Amino acid sequence: MKSVICREPGIIELGQRGEPGQLAEGWVLLDIHYAGLCGTDYHIYEGKHPFLEYPRVIGHELSGTISDANGVDGFKAGDRVVVNPYLACGACIACRNGKPNCCEVVQVLGVHRDGGLCERLAVPAANLVPAGDLALRDAAMVEFLAIGAHAVRRAGLGKGNALVVGAGPIGLGVAVFAWIAGLDVTMADVSAERIEQSREILGGEAGILMGGDDAARQVRRRQPGGFDVVFDATGNSRSIMDGFQHVAHGGTYVLVSVVKDDITFSDPEFHKREMSLIGSRNATSEDFRHVIASIEAGLVPLEKLATHETTLEAVPDDLPRWAHDKRGLVKALVRI
Ligand SMILES: [Zn+2]
Ligand SMILES: [Zn+2]
Repeated sequence: MKSVICREPGIIELGQRGEPGQLAEGWVLLDIHYAGLCGTDYHIYEGKHPFLEYPRVIGHELSGTISDANGVDGFKAGDRVVVNPYLACGACIACRNGKPNCCEVVQVLGVHRDGGLCERLAVPAANLVPAGDLALRDAAMVEFLAIGAHAVRRAGLGKGNALVVGAGPIGLGVAVFAWIAGLDVTMADVSAERIEQSREILGGEAGILMGGDDAARQVRRRQPGGFDVVFDATGNSRSIMDGFQHVAHGGTYVLVSVVKDDITFSDPEFHKREMSLIGSRNATSEDFRHVIASIEAGLVPLEKLATHETTLEAVPDDLPRWAHDKRGLVKALVRI
């Protein structure tokens, strides 16, 4: 079957891979219909991903229909589903505590094992979430939004002021779900262009948006006492460290993006605020369901988030282009 394979950094091609073969107990076979491309896919292509063995079939933001339910209770051929791509062991402390998203040995489709930019894929039925009323194209956007929904759930706040730093796709997802949770959202980004795009996408729903070199000072002016919760979605260690100063006394700092470097901060500044510092990793099926229900309720500006579309065959041409030039790009969807 046709599969998009990243052979090594800088080399991506449409190749042939064998069919999934005999299904293990509890696994089902899917026909993949749509896949979203995200930062991870571009990083894999660019060789920037810290732990990746090549060659790899990329793709982890997936929707499809079940073609063989393999006798698994509650599933049947034809069911429309979203894939939760975080395959957990079920046995480690995190898994036993209901946190498969941070399983000690989590295997992410399209990263640790071959993903879904292909025609058919076998996955554990436990990793499927019914797509509800969503078109399968829209269903492929649930995963990246679930990252934002998870970060907001980690913050555990239903009111107050939120600052989202970083106006890329993940930051936009955080902003949408912070707004849905009842928070007053401010977005900041060093790129005035991205802020302008965010303003178009979020409309009046996200309060004031700030960009440019002056962003940090504008943020302080807007909320001199700091924000009840600050979310970092920059992927930049300098920005993460700067973000501590924007947290209000008694406030919370949620680190959504991950960097390779050490993060340092002033302990007196941290302690005098009694700040809660929270990591947010991946998402759980509960977050996926929340995203699907929010889309069904018309609360997510999906059409504005889906900026680009391509086909499985065209990914080897389009993905390298978009990796280099992300102007105007939020989410690219691949039709399979
Ligand atoms: Zn992704
Ligand atoms: Zn585990």
